[in-house]
Order: sequence, then C-alpha cells, then structure tokens
Amino acid sequence: MTRLRLVVCCALAALGLWTVTLGAQAPLPTPESSLGFRVGADFKLATYEDSLAYFRKLDQASDRLQLVEVGRTSEGRAWYFALISSPENLANVEKYRQIAQRLAHPEGLTDEEARRLAREGKAFVHIDGGLHASEVAHAQHTIQLAYDLLASANDPRIRNILDNVIFMLWPSVNPDGQTLVAEWYRSNVGTPYEVAPMPWLYQKYVGHDNNRDAYMLNMIESRVLTRTWRQWEPQIIYVQHQSSPFPTRIWLPPFAEPIATQVPPLLSRTVNTIGMVIAQALEERGQVGATHMGSGFDAWYPGYIDYLPMLKNVAAFWTETALYRYATPHFYTIADFPRDKVELRSESLYSSPWKGGWWRLRDAVDYMLTASTAVLDYAARYKTELLYNRYQAGRDAMKKYAAEPPYAYFIPQAQRDPVAPVELLRRLAFNGVKVYQLTKAVTIGNQSYAGGTWVIPMNQEFAELARQVLEPQRYPDLREYPEGPPEQPYDAAGWTLPYQMDVRVIAASSPLGDDARGALKLLEGPAADWKADDTDRSPFDSAPGAGFDTDANAAGIVPAPAKAAGTGAALAVDAAQNNAFRAVNQAWRAGGAVQLDAKGRYVISGVAPATLTQWVEHLALRAEWVAAPAGSRVAKPRLALFRPWTASMDEGWTRWLLEMYGFDFTPIDNADVQSGALRDRFDVIILTDERARTITDGFQPGSVPPRYEGGIGDRGVRAIEEFVRKGGTLVCLNGSALFAIDALKLPVRNVVAGLTRQQFFANGSILEIIPDAAHPVMAGMPDRAPVFVFGSPAFTTAKEFEGTVLAKYRASGTPLLSGYLLGEKYLNNAAAAVDARYGDGHVVLIGFKPQWRGQPFGSFKVLFNAALFHGELAAKAAGTKGFWAPPQQPEPEKKQQ
Ligand SMILES: [Zn+2]
Repeated sequence: MTRLRLVVCCALAALGLWTVTLGAQAPLPTPESSLGFRVGADFKLATYEDSLAYFRKLDQASDRLQLVEVGRTSEGRAWYFALISSPENLANVEKYRQIAQRLAHPEGLTDEEARRLAREGKAFVHIDGGLHASEVAHAQHTIQLAYDLLASANDPRIRNILDNVIFMLWPSVNPDGQTLVAEWYRSNVGTPYEVAPMPWLYQKYVGHDNNRDAYMLNMIESRVLTRTWRQWEPQIIYVQHQSSPFPTRIWLPPFAEPIATQVPPLLSRTVNTIGMVIAQALEERGQVGATHMGSGFDAWYPGYIDYLPMLKNVAAFWTETALYRYATPHFYTIADFPRDKVELRSESLYSSPWKGGWWRLRDAVDYMLTASTAVLDYAARYKTELLYNRYQAGRDAMKKYAAEPPYAYFIPQAQRDPVAPVELLRRLAFNGVKVYQLTKAVTIGNQSYAGGTWVIPMNQEFAELARQVLEPQRYPDLREYPEGPPEQPYDAAGWTLPYQMDVRVIAASSPLGDDARGALKLLEGPAADWKADDTDRSPFDSAPGAGFDTDANAAGIVPAPAKAAGTGAALAVDAAQNNAFRAVNQAWRAGGAVQLDAKGRYVISGVAPATLTQWVEHLALRAEWVAAPAGSRVAKPRLALFRPWTASMDEGWTRWLLEMYGFDFTPIDNADVQSGALRDRFDVIILTDERARTITDGFQPGSVPPRYEGGIGDRGVRAIEEFVRKGGTLVCLNGSALFAIDALKLPVRNVVAGLTRQQFFANGSILEIIPDAAHPVMAGMPDRAPVFVFGSPAFTTAKEFEGTVLAKYRASGTPLLSGYLLGEKYLNNAAAAVDARYGDGHVVLIGFKPQWRGQPFGSFKVLFNAALFHGELAAKAAGTKGFWAPPQQPEPEKKQQ
C-alpha cells in the first residue's frame, strides 16, 4: 500500500518545533505483531526503540494518531509523543491548541468569552509511560493503550473520548531509562540475577530524581516536558508510577497530608475526584485492591514534575500500581501480608482488599489501562468544565494578588553572585512565570528600587508557582500520634530558592502604583529559543564561549554588563561567584596559573588579557585587575569522584555539576579504589552522600552479578587511609562523613547520632550556618549562610583533634530558615563542617548537601573549593588556626560503680 504523507503546515511547524504527518489507512498492526510478544508477557520488556517502532507503524496505519517529535534526551535519543484523537480534531489541532493556550492565560478574557471557548475547545490530556524506568509496567502499557484506542475507535465510549479529547500519549518520558532497564533485564533473565537491581542510574545523571527537578529544570528531560506542556497547555497531566503500599494493588489520589500550600483548591478537588473515578472504574472491571491511603505520598514538595503543574492550574497527579520486579511474576500468600491487612477487612478507602495470588507484569499493565482510560473518559465527559476551570484558576490567581500581598517580588541586580538571580529567574520564566525589569528607579511604600531591578508582579496566572518556590516553608507539625514522632515528609520540607541560591528577593507588601507599573518591561523567557538537540546547553547558565551577551537563549534575562576594575595583567575573581570556578578551570586549560588570595579571590595569571576580558564579559564576572598574583598557589587537582555500584543519585548530581562547571575528573569504582596507590594518581577524592555501609559493603553477594557485588571493603578502606596519610584530600559530603570518621578513626563525633525522631528531626530543610570564610574551603561564603540538610550529621571534636572548624551552628536559638527542625539544641555550637588533619593530608567533612539536586547555588562553591583544596593551599591552611576553637566532646560521665 502506498502512503500519502502530508506535512501539515501550522505556526509551530513553521518554527520547526514539530512536524505532523497524516497517513492514509493501513491495517492496524497489533502490538504482538511488532514486538514479537504480547504486551506485559512474563519475562518480556519492550525497549524504547521497540515501542517507537510500533508507534511509527500506528502513525502510518491510522488517521487518529500522529507522532510529534519534541527533542532529544540526555543520551541523545530522538523523543516523541503521539497525538491521538478523531481525524476531525487532528485536522484542526492548531485551532484547539490555541484555545487551550488562550484559556491557560486568562489576561484580557471575559468569563463569557472563556465559557464560549471552553464549549468550543477540546480537552488536552497528557498520559505517559512513566519516568521511573525501573517501574517497568507504565512504558509497556502505553503500547497497548494506543492500540486499544485505535482498534476500538467505533466503540461508543472510545468514540466519545476521541471526539472530545486530544490525547497526548507519551510512550515514555524517560526513553533512555526504558531501554537501559529493558536491556539490563534481558541480560539477566534466566540467570540467578534475573531480578537484580541495575547498578547504574536510569537517567544519565539523576535516576529517580528525574521526578525532583520540576522547578530547577536542570535535566534536559525536565525542560522538554515543561516546554511541550507550555506549547500545548493540557488540562490534565497524569504520570504512572509503581510502588503501591503492599498488599494494595494501586494507590490513587487524594494525596496524603500535607499538600503544597499554594495549590489552587479547585485543582486539588479535581485531582481528588479523578482518583475516585479511577477507583470506581477498577471496581467495575473487577480489579480489586485500589487504595487512597497508607502511602505517605504527600504533595508538599513542588519538585515533582507530575505535581508542579498544579501551581500552573493544571490537574497534575500520579498513581502507584503494584510492582514485583521487572517482568518476573510473583506469587503472594496472606503470610506475606503486614499484620493489619491479614483480616482482608473492607475499608472505606480500600473497599476490595486484594487476597494475594499471582502478580504479573500484565496485571499491572491492565490496572494502568483501566486507570488511563478512566481519566480519558472523565476528560471527555467534563471537557467543558476542565477547560473553563483552567481559565478560572488563572483568573482567580490574578485577582487574588491584585488585592493582597505579596503584590510582587523584587530582585535587585546587585547580588553576591550577579549570575545567581539570572539562573533563578530564567528557570521561573521557562516555567511560564512572567518576569519584568524596571526601566527606571521607583519607590513602593518606603522601599526604593534601582532601574534594572527584576520584578515578578503577582497578578499573573502562574503566581502561585513563583510564591511556592520563593517563600520560606513552614512544614506543619504533624504527629504520627499525640506526643509521637513527627510524620516524615515524603521528600524535602523546605526548598526556598532565594536561600538556596543566595539571591536577595524582596516581597512587596504595598501595591504597585501607576508609576511602578509604567516602568515594567516584560522580558522574554528562555523557553522559546531552546533546542533539546545534540548541542544542548542549559538555557540558564553561561558556559565559556556561550556568554550571556552572544547567546540567543539569553532572551532578555541577563546579568548587568560586567567590567573588571583596576589595572594589571592578573585577574582576581571573587569566589562568591560560581562562574569564578568556570574561569579557574578555563585558565588551567589555557595554560594559566591560579592563586587564592587573602580576600577569598581566585587570581588568574598567565592568560592573555584579551582572553580574560572576554571571560569577564561572557561569565558576567565581578573581578579586579591586579598587578601580580598573590596568595597560595592552586594547582589543577587530579580529581576523582567515587561511583558506587548502587546507582547513587548524589554521585550523579555531583558528576553533572562538576561537568557543568568545567572540572576535569576521573570516575572511580570499587576496583579502582582497591587497586591502591591512590596518592600516585589523585590529589583529591570526593565521596558523595552515601551511607558508610554502601561505601564499604555495597550490594550483598549474590544479589547482583559478581562484578557489581560488594563495596570497597577492607582493602579499599586501607587504600583510602594511605591516600590521606600520604597527603591526599578526602572530601566527604553529608552521610559519607560518617564513613570517614569510622574508617580513619577521626577524633570527631556526630552529635545527632542515635537521637530518636521525637528528639531530633531535620530532614530536607534549610538551616543557617556560620562559615569561616578565611578557610579556603569556605572562600566566598557569606558570614551567615543557608545550607540544605537531609539526614545530615553535625560534629563535635575530641581533644586530640587537629584541624579547623569550617562552619558551625549558632550558639543558641534555632538555625531553621525553611522547612522543619525539631531539637535545635543538639545543633547549637556544633560544627557543620570540619577540615580534619590526618597524616600529611586532610579529610574535609561537609555536614550538609552543598550540591543537592543542583539547587543550592549559594553553596556549590563549598564543593568546588574543596575540590581545589590540596598541595600548597592545603599545606598553608594546615599551619593556621581557624578563628574558632573546635567544639570539644564533653568528658564522658563517670559511671557509678
Ligand atoms: Zn516512581
């Protein structure tokens, strides 16, 4: 059969953002005919390539499905989603897209016009094959779902869906991971390691944290999704997951407490309703075991890409279907059940208890098919309400902040790191928040703002998103029972970006007058020009050679032009700026030399002044020309980053960050550490946030193929000990500090070890520390610095301790800035970071997460400085006493005989 392929011209196609092809009818191929097995068959997983090959066949065979290319993944795969709807809707898809756009951005619309558009428009619904690739069923279910909709197009229920919904079906939203996991599983099926975990991350850098990046947009995949949603403005976004609390078979919204404070109630109610609609559909099909409870899936943290759109007035949510492991079936008996579930008692929100038995991949696929179809059915029935409510929630946000504070956020250009506010504002703009700039100085209330100050006026439709990430969080004091321990947040309790990024943001408590409004100039966000292609660059930062001034992605939100003061051939760059480290790494590549001076500035020499001038401009550096280099020599470190086989997300984030800032480093694994002679090869070794046991013991023998089992073991510990003793620097982030204390018998103690959750609790919050900026590891840090803690240690030292306290907690009162802290007294006077001398070397213990998920721009420099802390710099630091005496361990109390 010959196929007529017709490129539909529309505004987007003209921009090259997407192409649509319409094919004439061919017989509809079944998934089995393409994959070679039935979707969800035992022991079988389709890769992304398998899935895409099938979707291409559907695209050719059906006039109800069109593939749309959206960009490339982190590993460079071409990435698509499918539009599925009636042929008439697809022929008019641009008209309907514009209606969805218009209703998502209500400015200038009346309620009557909105009602008319809602009646005229179609519901856009996003459902996908998941982003957590080790939860394997979702990316299989999308294959079957596409076929079912097309094969049953004449069934009245499906026809109603296709007539009223324009369905955005993504085979997967982590294509790289789908293929990695399927290939890993295939290599192990039939061996003793059939259900072994994959020893690397299923997203190039961040693995499971690919669902924690929604407002930072550090990963390409987050940006592709966000930009596509902004182009199509769906009213429902539904992402499938798999980890229902056992023995329930699927967890559905409503979410557990607490939910994000700024989420519009109308959207919360919509998601709650959809959860119930899915549950009812499952019962209708005899699919038992749905629950809405017992999961701890709260929706407090807005970093979930499948929840953040709520703050943009989209009904966004996820569900969690039960999983065993990969495509291997498993038989459960009541004996496997937790005690409170053995009676199989019908509960209000768990009405049909699952009784055990076989659970196969196909069962999970079938539950997901029911759930996805129920959501489409709901959207078809209520499409007018969904469209109008999107408008109404946006309209209400605009009204709310026209009448109550905060009326606006002001972000001055003068900041400790002049690039940090740009990084912050570009991210908000990419997400659709409108960012303006003052064309002249204005005064609001009794506060004056200079011309050039950035402004986020709050009478805009996505205002709640801005507020949710800019304001401090107060995590509610929820107890498991009265006087019991606090309930654990599912993720972070506080994330306030002005704290994390060290950006001064001022909330306006008085309305903006006409004068201020007249001075506002709208800036273009970076999303429109960004291309997720082979030459992907972050649209937020400025990498050398791709400076703000020349970068098309800059699109309006740029730092104030930079010019170095003074005269001389060397350039001194304040370490408060993250781009100082880009300049340092560039300098070494260009054959230059680097020193750290007494003012906490990296002084670059031996590079042509014209080149340095270019860096100043491109990196927007605050810098000063000086006559001659002064300070301690900083040699380019031979840097190693330890990578455990446990697929460490913190290692991945750190690897990503070091790459972003131009550090050269060598990844090392267990075997590299055990082979010894580390000092001959490296100056600095970084251990990211791992449990001590993960580093030493790794995977249990027998649980993974032999080359991935175990940790560094005793031999590795001895090799690391020798490395430090012979003058190396070991940098331990957060949890790995406890490894070093134990392995090297450091005279340092974790003061919060062994405390119960009723005594001390500080997970995922922002605390204030007092750094010693005179120490090279704290160069560029402010007098008081917010840092992010997550299961973090705090230190006290014994008498025999030699070294320096790098940062400490305040002597009294609470260091809490955002999130939740119980038991502040345990932190008072404790050290937050120490530099411990050991033999000829140093062990730098950082009791917080300086690079957490690529968010705390304010503390990246602690990691970067530590990576440079070796040689002459470290030798000099060892000779000086810091300005604090280390906090000493109290004498152990004498036991009474
Ligand atoms: Zn998941």
